Amino acid sequence: MASGAWTLAGLLAEAGLTCAVCGSADCARFHGRRYRKRVRDLSTGEVFQDLPILRVRFCSGATPSLMPAELWRGRSTLTSVVETVVHVQRDGVEAAHDWTSFAGRGEAVVSCRTLRRWCALVQARLVGAALAWLGPRLGFQWSDSVPSAEQLEALLERLTEAVLLAFRALTGQAVLDRQSGTRGTRLAASSARRVAGRPDPDPPHDPPPARRPRGAWWPRNRRGPPRPQPKEDRPA
Ligand SMILES: [Zn+2]
Repeated sequence: MASGAWTLAGLLAEAGLTCAVCGSADCARFHGRRYRKRVRDLSTGEVFQDLPILRVRFCSGATPSLMPAELWRGRSTLTSVVETVVHVQRDGVEAAHDWTSFAGRGEAVVSCRTLRRWCALVQARLVGAALAWLGPRLGFQWSDSVPSAEQLEALLERLTEAVLLAFRALTGQAVLDRQSGTRGTRLAASSARRVAGRPDPDPPHDPPPARRPRGAWWPRNRRGPPRPQPKEDRPA
């Protein structure tokens, strides 16, 4: 994507949203905007306020939403929910709860009950449903003989904004949302959309602010080891 020159059609195409009549996004018109008040990344403690969600109208009459890939229906980013579940599975609910409090800078951001609910959600909706579509695109296959936490962690390594966006574009919902009726049932069957071969996009069109290293609690974290501050004695 050429930096600087965004068009609405370009953004929609990037997100895999096209009009059913035209087969492209060229007919899209601005339809409205809504805001998600507060979304938290539990891993970094980062809070996104008033995240804009753009609605467009195609000539087919459809009004899809252009959502940030990382956004879940809840108030936490999607990957941080999955990461929290990995933590619960490895170290237990109490330890994971302590960690989320740390991300919330001392305030309790989620209850132990919510953490248990997330475990069930990730199992049912991500592993049990969305993965049927995501797996082949990420070159990832779930195995019942490998510990769940290990596999979720491996999955997190592979999840890209592009594939999350594509999933949302296809189904109209995030991978942790409850599958809504008819669109969900088409999920496994419709594999025509090309995503896997697509290179990671340039910074997403609705990028969250620059991210801090993820998962400071993680002992063998591969995604963002806390970097020691460089100590330069003399100016460069
Ligand atoms: Zn159209």
